Amino acid sequence: MTHGFTRPAKKHLGQNFLHEKGVIDKIVQAIDPQPGDALVEIGPGQGALTFPLLRRHGQLIAIEFDRDLHAPLQAAAREHGTLHLIEGDVLEVDFTALAARHGDARGQIRLLGNLPYNLSSPILFHALTHAAAIRDMHFMLQKEVVERMAAGPGSKVYGRLSVMLQAYSVVTPLFTVAPGAFRPAPKVESAVVRLVPKPAEDIAIRDHARFAELVRAAFGQRRKTLRNALSGVASPALIEAAGLRPDARAEQIDVAGFVRLANLPVPA
Ligand code: SAM
Repeated sequence: MTHGFTRPAKKHLGQNFLHEKGVIDKIVQAIDPQPGDALVEIGPGQGALTFPLLRRHGQLIAIEFDRDLHAPLQAAAREHGTLHLIEGDVLEVDFTALAARHGDARGQIRLLGNLPYNLSSPILFHALTHAAAIRDMHFMLQKEVVERMAAGPGSKVYGRLSVMLQAYSVVTPLFTVAPGAFRPAPKVESAVVRLVPKPAEDIAIRDHARFAELVRAAFGQRRKTLRNALSGVASPALIEAAGLRPDARAEQIDVAGFVRLANLPVPA
């Protein structure tokens, strides 16, 4: 399949261009765009996902940082549909404002992308801060990152990313993708994951900053007991009041446990 143009890949921008049609088709099927959806792609690159989605859906917003790709993307997109290209850094894009202006009937956007792997976590956390404006997300990431996102307590890879993402969204790994599906081939396996932000009424967290602070501190020193890792942030008495053992480690605490702890009033 031709994407319309090719450029040498830039490693520092995490450019691994997808070329395998079977994988592209599976991603488009997983997204399954419906009339009225407001699709927003992060990092369209040479249009591997952009052009098939344009042919299916007619229009799409895409955010691309690499200036060398802007003009060829715009030119090649014309034969497939209407591309609204935002030329810049995705981390500077206010998804809430974007959704208010270009969202669907509920004022929401659907995010997707084969992400630059060096920016995966910052992009995920950025999206979380705009969760109410996002209906769902379909991302290609390193397989190892998807495993961390979906892990539960007791798993070696359960950590801050798992707790933060699962507190605010439903994480569903969809399928894995071999390095040979990309040019150049990355050194690692990849996977596609779906994230559906939970409605605000299903998120029991009262103070989001406090929750984030506790999770960060607990996993900042994951080999330490909660008593030690949280010293200065939550007392042993407070940890016990949340129904947790101060000598437990963060990797043993489920999302609900962190939520209970964060919701307790901090004694003055
Ligand atoms: N979607 C294309 C594909 O599947 O072949 C390209 C995927 S490539 C893994 C990641 C893309 O993200 C590249 O086009 C890269 O230039 C772009 N990118 C990197 N950093 C970015 C940023 N901060 N904001 C927006 N796009 C970025």
